[in-house]
Amino acid sequence: MKKAILFFSLFTITSSLVAQSNNPPGLSLIRSEDLKKDLYRFASAHFKGRSAGTIDELNASAWLVEQFRAIGLKPAGDNGTYLQFFSLVRKQLANNSTIEINGTPLQLWKDVAVSQLANTNLKAPIVYLGNAADIDTNTVDVKDKVIAIEASTKGINLNVSLPTWRYNRYIFARYGMPLLKRGAKAILFIADEQAEAAWADATENFKRGIYDLHEEANPNASARSAQSATATAPVIWLHAEAKQKLQNNTASINMNLIVSEYLYPSANVVGMVEGTDPKLKSEYVLYSGHTDAHGIRNVIKGDSIYYGADDNGSVDVAMLANARAFAKYPSKRSVLFVIHGAEERGLFGSRYYSGHPTVPVGKIVAVLNGDMIGRNNTDSAAILGVNPPHRNSSDLVSMALAANKEGPNFKLDTTWDNINHVEGWYFRSDHLPYARLGIPAIMYTSLLHPDYHTPQDNVESINYPKLKKMADWMYRTGWKVANKEMRPATDKDFKLER
Ligand SMILES: [Zn+2]
Repeated sequence: MKKAILFFSLFTITSSLVAQSNNPPGLSLIRSEDLKKDLYRFASAHFKGRSAGTIDELNASAWLVEQFRAIGLKPAGDNGTYLQFFSLVRKQLANNSTIEINGTPLQLWKDVAVSQLANTNLKAPIVYLGNAADIDTNTVDVKDKVIAIEASTKGINLNVSLPTWRYNRYIFARYGMPLLKRGAKAILFIADEQAEAAWADATENFKRGIYDLHEEANPNASARSAQSATATAPVIWLHAEAKQKLQNNTASINMNLIVSEYLYPSANVVGMVEGTDPKLKSEYVLYSGHTDAHGIRNVIKGDSIYYGADDNGSVDVAMLANARAFAKYPSKRSVLFVIHGAEERGLFGSRYYSGHPTVPVGKIVAVLNGDMIGRNNTDSAAILGVNPPHRNSSDLVSMALAANKEGPNFKLDTTWDNINHVEGWYFRSDHLPYARLGIPAIMYTSLLHPDYHTPQDNVESINYPKLKKMADWMYRTGWKVANKEMRPATDKDFKLER
């Protein structure tokens, strides 16, 4: 009897030790209260939506630097600091640009929106081709003409996130591009109902202009711009009512568009916890998030600040929590925390850091990227980079899946790697440039929601218990990767579809 009791209690002790050994040591340092407190600061009105390349993004970066310092991370950016600055080339329509139809000046952005920039000085008759859906863009004669067509939703799938941000681009790709390729001198789209509904959101994007990494940092830039001969013609949008003036084919346009081009700063915030193993400490597990959101824009439901609490404050504060855990209990490998700048403008921070890493690129053993991890049901989540052709490391994927089982035990949606998925999200977040270099990479997310890219993506809408579970999952994965003897291998057959 006694013996049996003794055996039983030993067994309980042992099994509870085994269960505990799955918990990384710093787990209790990932606290809901910290996540909430940090997010209420970072995604507050104070940083005005952290638009890439603005003083607001830089202020938010400075705040992150101070958190890194307080946590005790080592500076791992450039010049012994936590920052890595880089420059964007920004092109924007100059305010003194003018557009007149039949001699009547149009007010920029209110009466007319310029969706494709090109330095232009032209006076020409407008050729009205009718509704886009009725035009055969492969045969119509448009050479050297200024073409007007009415937009149409026919054949366009708008069952996607952000239809108002994408509609004008979809229309251009389907109807504008072929006409420019056939030699049209300029395209005037007349808004249909859908384009009218999208006008405010779309115009905010057009106003901001276009961005690229600065040439010096970007050897492929000239090759890319050489490809886009169709990008040298102007494309503009007019309201639906313009049809009346244009449809009898007697109208003319006088357009003087001036494109201003200038450099614009952004920054990556980079901190490190040094590993404890004399050999493995020269290798790095890289946590990835992004600083920027969408700034101040058109009003939706009474607010104009696009706070980006979920996108991507949620991940940034989860990284701070992970940093606290690793700082207190360092792993064998070193851990890098990189919060990228200018993700929303085209993954510029991650493109820059992966091209100019502050540690040897071959020593980055894995990238754990997160994008929007604080919304939707508490019991479910998603991971990208988990199925071919986006899976580039089966090793890393198994560790992430095991970490999920041991901790949050989310029901996982793994459908987002499907190459026919309408969102194509794998190509829209910061793990991508690293994956392209063959570095094992995954992305954590709690998926999209109707407040995505609106002022309602705010701190009040975050599911904090969910956010804590996501932060735990990222920590458990990172802890495994950072301590395992062998670094995760890159799958031999990894090849992205585009
Ligand atoms: Zn994002």
